[in-house]
Amino acid sequence: MAKTTEEMSRIAPEVMARYEAVIGLEVHAQLLTQTKAFCACSRRFGDAPNSNTCPVCLGLPGALPVLNRKALELAIRASLALHCSVQERSRFARKNYFYPDLPKGYQISQYELPLATEGWLEIELAGATKRVGITRVHMEEDAAKNIHEGLPESDRYSYIDFNRGGVPLIEIVSEPDLRAPPEAHAYLTALKQILLYTEVSDCNMEEGSLRCDANVSVRSRGAEKFGTKVEVKNLNSFRFLQRALEHEIERQIAEIEAGRTIAQETRLYNVAAGRTEPMRSKEFAHDYRYFPDPDLLPVVVDATLQKQVQDSMPELPEAKRARFVRDLGITPYDADVLAATRALADYFEAVVQAGAPGKIAANWISTELLARLNDSGKEVSESPITPEELASLIGKIESGEITGATAKKVFARMFETGKTPAEVIAAEGYAQITDTGEIERIARAIVANNSNNVAKYRSGNEGVFKFFVGQVMRETRGQANPQAVNDILKRILSEN
Ligand SMILES: [Zn+2]
Repeated sequence: MAKTTEEMSRIAPEVMARYEAVIGLEVHAQLLTQTKAFCACSRRFGDAPNSNTCPVCLGLPGALPVLNRKALELAIRASLALHCSVQERSRFARKNYFYPDLPKGYQISQYELPLATEGWLEIELAGATKRVGITRVHMEEDAAKNIHEGLPESDRYSYIDFNRGGVPLIEIVSEPDLRAPPEAHAYLTALKQILLYTEVSDCNMEEGSLRCDANVSVRSRGAEKFGTKVEVKNLNSFRFLQRALEHEIERQIAEIEAGRTIAQETRLYNVAAGRTEPMRSKEFAHDYRYFPDPDLLPVVVDATLQKQVQDSMPELPEAKRARFVRDLGITPYDADVLAATRALADYFEAVVQAGAPGKIAANWISTELLARLNDSGKEVSESPITPEELASLIGKIESGEITGATAKKVFARMFETGKTPAEVIAAEGYAQITDTGEIERIARAIVANNSNNVAKYRSGNEGVFKFFVGQVMRETRGQANPQAVNDILKRILSEN
């Protein structure tokens, strides 16, 4: 990391400013099906190695693939959510290469007839909205996983887990519309949010279900022509994506400034070294010899299927944010926070559904609830406070049963114990004191014991009034109805 900073400092900011980066991303997402793309094996992550295999995904002679209908539906759903045109006819092709992770000697993918084309995705950065083009969305199968370390004889052998082989993927290819690493970060963030919302993928980057490669070039600012593009692979976290792009852009600018040309090549991001490094040429110089897979029929997506998928589409983040602002009266900022995940948005809507005003519900969730979930490392789905209970708590403030200050204490106890607000209020004696007789008794005692301050008040020092209010609130642990305290104290102090 120190190295990156060092290298960056070699190029003066005014030199950097003369250049512009051109970035396109290729994102692979595993589809959230039960089974693999072309066989009935489970695609679950984390099962015992090589337990989810069969003649089809092991590529044994004579085995025939059959397309998983659910995988197709999820791929169509992603395509529609990304505003793509879904092709009525697309086709699977064989992408031929030899590597131990590919038992058939080819990967089933889509090539010249992809499932969907020409979509877009909106990203938001520093308050501005930008539309990024999606070139294509196509389906393919994942390769098996080569394991080079961590096993008994890893120093002598590489191991292969075929569980991942044949897991359904979509590849989403963007137009080269991104101009800086933060834009690429925002694009991947927005894409991940859509894939999660639509339940197309679990997008778990640690488990490899969302993976990202980038095409990067630089050109003089204002130039029309693209520079030579370099493919950077292995950008499998948001942090690495941003760092690798920053490094690669710097590297290319330094090369050009030094009078050298950029080689069109594939580079790997070396996480430990914090820089991109060229892959050995034989690892990427493939002629894939694509041809249509004769074992699979063309994929036909007719209007009926497209409509069926469209009708099953959940509300997307953008629409949800707009509706929250429009119908529930919350700020765009709060809408952004609450629509960040579908689970959180659903929680918020359930609180409102249970009777809480939108704005107040939004405040409680975006401050108290999120802070406590964060501190305890819990997901919103694991919240000890149900939406109904939060709505009930908010109702008790609105009705004057408890004060706002007390409500925060009740909320904390609810979160710790999982009890309902009524249970906590009863157990802790938190109910607001609205019994005016009780408040008057306390107020009179305080007035009787503070004759000096009574005299001051009566001689015109109205500031002393706050002292009396404070004393009554202290005596009642902040649970006295503030308006009643005011009224009663004014009346007592004006007597005689
Ligand atoms: Zn199988």
